[in-house]
Amino acid sequence: MAWDFETDPQYQELLDWADKFVTEQVEPLDLAWPHKQFTPLEGSRREAIDPLKAQVREKGLWATHLGPELGGQGHGQLKLALLNEILGRSQWAPIVFGCQAPDTGNAEIIAHYGTEEQKKKYLHPLLEGELFSCYSMTEPHAGADPTLFTTSAVRDGDDWVINGWKFFSSNAATASFLIVMVVTNPEVSAYQGMSMFLVPTDTPGVKIVRNVGLYGEPDNEGSHALIHYDNVRVPAEALLGGEGQAFVIAQTRLGGGRIHHAMRTIGLAQKALDMMCERALSRETQGSRLSDKQFVQGYIADSYAQLLQFRLMVLYTAWEIDKYNDYKKVRKDIAAVKVAMPTVLHDIAWRAMQIHGALGVTNEMPFLGMVTGAAVMGLADGPTEVHKTTVARQVLRDYQPTTDTWPTEWIPRKREAAKAKFAEYLEAEVGNL
Ligand SMILES: Cc1cc2nc3c(=O)[nH]c(=O)nc-3n(C[C@H](O)[C@H](O)[C@H](O)COP(=O)(O)OP(=O)(O)OC[C@H]3O[C@@H](n4cnc5c(N)ncnc54)[C@H](O)[C@@H]3O)c2cc1C
Repeated sequence: MAWDFETDPQYQELLDWADKFVTEQVEPLDLAWPHKQFTPLEGSRREAIDPLKAQVREKGLWATHLGPELGGQGHGQLKLALLNEILGRSQWAPIVFGCQAPDTGNAEIIAHYGTEEQKKKYLHPLLEGELFSCYSMTEPHAGADPTLFTTSAVRDGDDWVINGWKFFSSNAATASFLIVMVVTNPEVSAYQGMSMFLVPTDTPGVKIVRNVGLYGEPDNEGSHALIHYDNVRVPAEALLGGEGQAFVIAQTRLGGGRIHHAMRTIGLAQKALDMMCERALSRETQGSRLSDKQFVQGYIADSYAQLLQFRLMVLYTAWEIDKYNDYKKVRKDIAAVKVAMPTVLHDIAWRAMQIHGALGVTNEMPFLGMVTGAAVMGLADGPTEVHKTTVARQVLRDYQPTTDTWPTEWIPRKREAAKAKFAEYLEAEVGNL
């Protein structure tokens, strides 16, 4: 019976190597070059980081998000999950291992839907880690409901001309190209009338108006661009997949993207739990250590249980993706993971912060960044509420309404049925009395 929670020893060796390597070589990058991970490498940064990437390649752990059938060297989603939960604790680690969002999802859709020419131009350099990409879908007036998008592309001879506004286009400022979702046929439903284009960022008319930051980041130095596509002219070959295929492509992209965020979130939440435990064992107040107080023990127990449930949920979902090789079949569980993720990270980071007292809320500890990260996880790739409705709809598909006034499990009727079933024995019991 194949139902096993063990990692094969060879891969475990690689994971142990990755764990040590991330602690010793990669986590220091977060402090040496904070928030610079999506800036193309040059000068001293390239000198420091290229040798680290070379070590990852040597171990066969570079860019393992795509399987060989898509031009990568991946070992599947389950093994990626085990690796990503190590990488999740560092901002730089996904870059050093060539598997950072949003480039992973973008690579995946080009691998699935791109022409040979598009793969040569965009996918191969993406997988080499030499350029960055941006997924430009959300608009200032609409995010969760893509049917409201208005940015459009109109055919003009052999070209398409794109006009409109996009918001929260992460990493546009440093990306070499943008994947833009636009209306190409307003006459039909959005599900058939929207398409995706691959647009080099330096195309005339691509105007980055603001780089919006998260709370606390300096004005206009954030990673999330407001872009005005102002008569952006691209050739017909810039179309990704077929005309009208944007919704199908978006689902391919977001399925992978969501589960990869969840894998990394395990690592971040584990880091918060580790810090919580160290502090609880180290700090003394009112006659005993924090770890001896029942409230604190409650924080630790709840965090451990929450993380264990979430980790098993993510690993199981990753296993399902490998088994079915079709995101649609795993949609319910991917959405359930997406729903659970922000709460798990929020709760554990918040408790760890509380245990650290005043120090916990300072910029000398990472907790408020994690709490912001939890809020982001509840929005990026779709708000929690929308994913909850997906889970509920998928769960309800397996049920039927009853036509009876009383529920199927109504006890009086079931009791009568049980009595009738065992009448012979029940009568004998009465007879023996
Ligand atoms: C850090 C970060 C990075 C991002 N990166 C990108 C990116 O690279 N590219 C990109 O295109 N987008 C990106 N996004 C945008 C993200 O996809 C959107 O924020 C998300 O889809 C929600 O859209 P909105 O912000 O316009 O919220 P709205 O659509 O206005 O929704 C606002 C709120 O309304 C509620 N709501 C919405 N719909 C429903 C519903 N059906 N039922 C119940 N309640 C509902 C929810 O509470 C929701 O949070 C990013 C967002 C963040 C925070």
